[in-house]
Amino acid sequence: MKSIDALAGWGARGAHSLDELAELFAPRFCAACRSYGEPMRGRRALCLRCSRLLNIATLNLVMTELTYAPCPVASSGEYEYELAHCLLSFKNAARTDLVSYLSSALARSLVFLCQELGLAQIAGKGASVYLVPIPSSRQSVRRRGFAPASEITRAANKLLPSTYPGVSFTVLEALRPLYAGEGTEVLTGRVKGSQKQLGQQARYWRMQGSLGVRQPALSWAGRYLDLSGRVCIICDDVATTGASIAEAYRVLSEAGACVVGAAAVARVQRRSELPSSRIIS
Ligand SMILES: [Zn+2]
Repeated sequence: MKSIDALAGWGARGAHSLDELAELFAPRFCAACRSYGEPMRGRRALCLRCSRLLNIATLNLVMTELTYAPCPVASSGEYEYELAHCLLSFKNAARTDLVSYLSSALARSLVFLCQELGLAQIAGKGASVYLVPIPSSRQSVRRRGFAPASEITRAANKLLPSTYPGVSFTVLEALRPLYAGEGTEVLTGRVKGSQKQLGQQARYWRMQGSLGVRQPALSWAGRYLDLSGRVCIICDDVATTGASIAEAYRVLSEAGACVVGAAAVARVQRRSELPSSRIIS
């Protein structure tokens, strides 16, 4: 018995040493404040301080008015400080260990939207509601290796059944980015530059005609995606002007879906309303 205890103790010490060794050569950084070492001991993506601050930041649930959004939009926090750092680290530094934090925020936003709309009463108890993430461009998916809105939406969906009874949620990846020149009204080639660098008007025109309905794998056998009558909520990571939401709304509505609203993790305040110290780029 003693020898088993000794072996277990040796194993625990060995694992601890391995952790220390990994920390020495590849330290884990907090995705928001970049601290490492003691603040990150026993933690994964965020130090305790940033984790608490992010939790508080994503409790700021509001229905957001966006310039171009044609439907109600809910968001869980403002795009600033820890929330902005986390979204940037997730999207640009492939910190996929942040998914659990960001998906919790989106789930809150979705529940808030459903409550504000009275969705259980409108759609009926047990109704199916489809969560449609806004797709990333092909270049972004190639660069990042994943589509941020899809990742967060899928993870948020797993949190929803226990938090919002009465309506069943399903993720439906119904949208896809169109190739330049595909379709009849594609204007995407006219406006160049990253989304962040573009002004509101340019961002809107860039998005027009940029999305289409995804064709399922069995479309060759006549199994097309039928969206008619489906109750949909558009999901995104960051809501800025509502240009992406407007395009997703147009495509889904034209396909016969009933889009009741949109939910995002964060909302961007108009720059004119912000003091310069709060702008994070
Ligand atoms: Zn931190």
